[in-house]
Amino acid sequence: ARVSEEILQAEQLSKSFAGVRAVDHMTFAAPTGRVTGLIGPNGAGKSTLVNLITRQYHADSGKTLLSGRDLSTVSAENVARAGISRSFQNLRLFQGLTVYENVLVSALAAGHRGAQAAAVALRELRAFDLGDLAATRADALSYGARKRLEIARAIAQEPVILLLDEPAAGMNPAETDDLADRLMQIRDERGIGILLIDHDLHFVNRLSGWTVVMHRGTLIAEGAPEEVRADPAVIEAYIGR
Ligand code: ADP
Ligand code: MG
Repeated sequence: ARVSEEILQAEQLSKSFAGVRAVDHMTFAAPTGRVTGLIGPNGAGKSTLVNLITRQYHADSGKTLLSGRDLSTVSAENVARAGISRSFQNLRLFQGLTVYENVLVSALAAGHRGAQAAAVALRELRAFDLGDLAATRADALSYGARKRLEIARAIAQEPVILLLDEPAAGMNPAETDDLADRLMQIRDERGIGILLIDHDLHFVNRLSGWTVVMHRGTLIAEGAPEEVRADPAVIEAYIGR
């Protein structure tokens, strides 16, 4: 890896809930300019890991670094400013605001002002095929459009790393394919890193050349998609649960 490359690193992250080790000494890295797939059976700890990275939860031990900067003292409110954005599994949009206003809020949060903020917002609306819906209130959108707006908002914050926790959940195959195309374009044009969690391995593998596999809170395999798919530990994790 190039030294100048920006990178998200988790080192020995652990988090327990009332005796349940949700994340257990998890170590992995996700570089910019690429999509890193994060897979694992239900309950593996994937969402908890995301919540630790974004500081929604505080780790019992271990740390997260972004390009070498320890994020241990950064608050959840300041994580986006530090360069990490996410979409939520449960949608958290400003329901009473328009599609445009929702994305504009993120552009303002990224430090843009005036016409420049408007231009960033419009760029993301176009990237996610929301231009025609700019004046529509968020609460009037279809499910698929709401999911796209969520991701557009996260990207308008101009992150170094974007965390997507099951962005295609609830989408039909055509919507999922369309989302994959849009994320590929983001990957290729923006140079940001994407950590992509999804159950749909076909979807993840279309975007990602590197897969990280979690089971019982910890890393059990990582590598090219075809490698991890053939890994006995991975097959056992999916079958033996
Ligand atoms: P995944 O996203 O891979 O399906 P999660 O991170 O949601 O897995 O959950 C990992 C484990 O931690 C599960 O056993 C889950 O029940 C538990 N867990 C997650 N969040 C909480 C919480 N807030 N309180 C208690 N247990 C939790
Ligand atoms: Mg989850």
